[in-house]
Amino acid sequence: MILNILWMYHDLMDLYGDKGNLQVLKTRAEKRGIDVNLVTCGIGEPCSIKDYDIFFLGGGADREQNLIQEDLLSRRAEIEEAMNNQTAFLLICGGYQMFGKFYRDQDGTTVPGLAFFDYYTEASSRDNRCIGNIAIEVTMGGETFQAVGFENHGGQTKGVTTPLGKVLKGHGNQYQSGYEGFVNEQVVATYMHGPLLPKNPGIADLVLKRGLRRTYGDVNLKGLDDTFETRARETMLKRLGVLK
Ligand code: GLN
Repeated sequence: MILNILWMYHDLMDLYGDKGNLQVLKTRAEKRGIDVNLVTCGIGEPCSIKDYDIFFLGGGADREQNLIQEDLLSRRAEIEEAMNNQTAFLLICGGYQMFGKFYRDQDGTTVPGLAFFDYYTEASSRDNRCIGNIAIEVTMGGETFQAVGFENHGGQTKGVTTPLGKVLKGHGNQYQSGYEGFVNEQVVATYMHGPLLPKNPGIADLVLKRGLRRTYGDVNLKGLDDTFETRARETMLKRLGVLK
């Protein structure tokens, strides 16, 4: 089997080491004998988005979001075709924001989004920035589990009807809000940096399965030894007072 992963704006949208998510997806696929074709696509570079199994867009400061916005919107039709073609999406923070209706940044500039979903984002006042470790309860793929990460965003995302998880500790979509992220059959969108996937192998495998589904249908991934990943996650959950 082969898994084709498209990493968008790798040189600009990679806040807090979001590239680590690609390393986790690649390693966890290769440990199962799946070949991985990881391709980057920057501003102005041609790429056939619909041919990829996983589309990844990381986080970015307001400056970088403004830099990519025109190029990203120019690819809207291609991204929509990929969405209709069962491509799986993993979107982190700024990348998450850009798939909504708009992002109004700290300076009041309105950055139009792809508007695939009804949510929208407005930057908070500087003293309501959502910063710190975060823990959420996720229900995905028929399982309920806890996930940990790190958030740092001024953006307050409103109008999400299908959040990724319930906030156990931290802020989430809005300052001291109860819910975090956005999820549907193809998209996992979250404010959780860290990067997200190393401590949350359950989410990594769900994204892998979604990516493989496009070509191979429902694939059963063999279990991996997640001792270290689990220990790292549980250490953070204990530090946040979520686990005893
Ligand atoms: N610039 C956006 C905000 O401040 C996204 C930040 C990020 O990607 N961490 O909300």
